[in-house]
Amino acid sequence: MLEQKRELVTGIPGPASQRLLERRKDAISAGVGMAVPVFVAEGAGGILRDVDGNQLIDLGSGIAVTSVGVSDPDVVAAASRQAQAVTHTCFMVTGYEPYVALCERLNELVPGDGPKKSVLFNSGAEAVENAVKIARVATGKHQVAAVEHAYHGRTSLTMALTAKAMPFKRGFGPFTPGVVRVPTSYPLKDELDGEQAARRTITRLEAEIGAEDLAALIIEPIQGEGGFLVPAAGFLPALAQWCRNNGVVFIADEVQTGFCRTGDWFACEHEAVIPDLMTLAKGIADGFPVSAVTGRADLMDSVHVGGMGGTYGGNPVACAAALATIDKMASDDLNAAARRIEQVAREVLAPLLELHFVAELRGRGAMLALELIDSRTGQHLSDLARAVAARCAQLGVVVLTAGTHGNVIRLLPPLVIGEELLREGLGVLVEVLMEQELS
Ligand SMILES: *Cc1c(COP(=O)(O)O)cnc(C)c1O
Repeated sequence: MLEQKRELVTGIPGPASQRLLERRKDAISAGVGMAVPVFVAEGAGGILRDVDGNQLIDLGSGIAVTSVGVSDPDVVAAASRQAQAVTHTCFMVTGYEPYVALCERLNELVPGDGPKKSVLFNSGAEAVENAVKIARVATGKHQVAAVEHAYHGRTSLTMALTAKAMPFKRGFGPFTPGVVRVPTSYPLKDELDGEQAARRTITRLEAEIGAEDLAALIIEPIQGEGGFLVPAAGFLPALAQWCRNNGVVFIADEVQTGFCRTGDWFACEHEAVIPDLMTLAKGIADGFPVSAVTGRADLMDSVHVGGMGGTYGGNPVACAAALATIDKMASDDLNAAARRIEQVAREVLAPLLELHFVAELRGRGAMLALELIDSRTGQHLSDLARAVAARCAQLGVVVLTAGTHGNVIRLLPPLVIGEELLREGLGVLVEVLMEQELS
């Protein structure tokens, strides 16, 4: 395995990455962004090694995907075996066992006592699209509510559900109709407790749509791209209860929060919230593209035969990778690992809370963020967040940004990262933030 050590042998980007950046510019649409200007040749555990031989500490996991580490050997072995046996048949043409096994596994893992079923797709956005389709068919209603700061993807329907214009929506409309936006819970800014925030949201739902016309409410239990917004306690349970009382399908989008990221298999479990449908992707398969909708069997079975599917959905290699990934999470207790990461991170990052531009350290498990706001002016410091992330990259640490205003530094380390490496990576972030002088 790659030595678990940060090491810089060239500047960032080095010459080999620079040559690839040139080729990238000539060959690839300018519309694709890039957070860290290096090209990775290898990875393992908490380290990414670039084409120049630089070793970077990974505090991003490819956006909460490689929770078991890039190219985990057991996942690679399972995927290789499956690739040698069957690469594809299309599950709508002939079946294969890994699809069935993964759905059985998800039905067991996802909270809820009643019978559950699953269906597999390729991406998070595709799972969200299909969860909405299921809710519409099951209820015979068509409106869908999403909250402020939401992120659900980049397809037409999921752009409509997503709140942030730049870069996700600008110029790409008109969007799918039938989507309404309602307030969320953002304790740092709204200063409402969970019950008050839920009442505000429910009042809006009742006044501006009405449960009679509302098929579903979709929400991320901790909002990801929106800036790792942890709702006040009681907010999610109250919304779930209102949905249950009013025949509205409660969809938990756990694409980013799922699979041990927050110290539970799913972030909903923290408050014992049981969604009707859950959307899953990112951490599910160590980077192999597969996603899922899992939920109440009666809803899942309300769709006519042939109504769900796709050429590649639930690809056998990706399913085998997912099963191996989930096995690893269970056998190595990565929920405990996520909680341990939170402890270490809160300890190392604590001094930052003294800085007048660090408004909050928030999140849960290995999903933590710092929101940068100038306490004197109230300004959202997006340039600072970007500069800090860029400086960290130069020093060999990958950190990502997020937030509707782009002023949030987010941490999503692989759950298998060693404690020493984690402390070192976080230490670099602390140093970089301490260096920032605000004019
Ligand atoms: C990333 C994400 C999506 C979209 O997933 P893709 O695989 O990029 O389509 C949807 N919902 C949430 C909460 C996400 O974080």
